[in-house]
Amino acid sequence: MKPASFDYVVPSTVAEAVQALGGTDRTAQVLAGGQSLILEMHLQRIRPQLVVDINRIPELDGMRVDGDELRVGALVRHATFESADAVPGPLGTLLSRAVVNIAHPPIRSRGTMAGSFGWAHPASEWCAIGVALDATVEVTGPDGARSLPARDYFLGPYRTARRPQELITAVRLPLLGENTGVGFVEHRRTHFCFAQVAVAAALTVTDGVISDARIGLVNSADRPLRARAAEQVLIGADFAPLPEGPRLPDGHPFARAGRAAAQEDATPIAEPYADAEYKRQAIAVLVGRTLTEAATDLRSRLAPRQGGPR
Ligand SMILES: Cc1cc2nc3c(=O)[nH]c(=O)nc-3n(C[C@H](O)[C@H](O)[C@H](O)COP(=O)(O)OP(=O)(O)OC[C@H]3O[C@@H](n4cnc5c(N)ncnc54)[C@H](O)[C@@H]3O)c2cc1C
Repeated sequence: MKPASFDYVVPSTVAEAVQALGGTDRTAQVLAGGQSLILEMHLQRIRPQLVVDINRIPELDGMRVDGDELRVGALVRHATFESADAVPGPLGTLLSRAVVNIAHPPIRSRGTMAGSFGWAHPASEWCAIGVALDATVEVTGPDGARSLPARDYFLGPYRTARRPQELITAVRLPLLGENTGVGFVEHRRTHFCFAQVAVAAALTVTDGVISDARIGLVNSADRPLRARAAEQVLIGADFAPLPEGPRLPDGHPFARAGRAAAQEDATPIAEPYADAEYKRQAIAVLVGRTLTEAATDLRSRLAPRQGGPR
């Protein structure tokens, strides 16, 4: 199918883009990477009367460390994060492990992190990481700039607290310290499908005890989810060596956290190839695996400093 007809503008500043979005009573869409929008327009599931192409706005490009946060401009493409060195510390590792699960290279070379926040698909890897880490979404509209905490930003599938006249200018993510280990594990039907379920985790250890745990669940509810019940199982637990063998014992904190995530945090929505019970089982297993990956990551990070793994 072809898209319905629409007007098209290419502003060169944020102010011009906001003016275009705010100065119309027509339905408007922002064109960033176009990797969701163009497809939806071709299917005529979205029929904007105006498309505001932000790709020629230099101030939206680039990312930088700003204090203890990474500020990712609205034109930074997914592919930027494929190298763990693009971002300092464990945050770079987490983003690089997650990004390879987003579609395939041509889509990653155009699609943007901010576009994923704009689209707000419950199966978005970036959005679950944003919720888990307490990211902030920067928006600018006719009434000025606002900072929206990710925990309040997602309202449901494709629904957010951003007003239609507002432009996302950046996403801010907190940097993670060297005593944090990270993991990301995804389950999907084929390489090019969205996740049936995926899990992001960041475990922080202080004096041999888990002092902070962040767990983000992908496609486990009608929006990206932070698994707070699972996190509570972990906080205060000893950061003990992992048991031998392919399966975690039922009583291990990571296994208990997996069950808490599946039973208390998640409210999975059935899909054609994954009903809600299947998803709950997958969440329980994947949380355990992701925490194991995070623990292994942290041990490898600590080993050079301590002369060997603890
Ligand atoms: C085959 C295929 C597989 C995919 N697999 C995955 C996957 O596994 N995981 C995943 O997360 N994504 C996946 N995607 C989606 C892809 O990651 C998109 O890049 C992403 O959803 C949107 O980013 P974009 O920059 O392309 O945004 P666009 O397509 O340009 O825009 C998407 C929406 O966000 C809004 N928007 C974009 N930027 C802004 C902004 N700065 N301010 C306000 N609103 C904005 C637009 O108005 C539009 O409604 C897939 C896409 C395809 C085609």
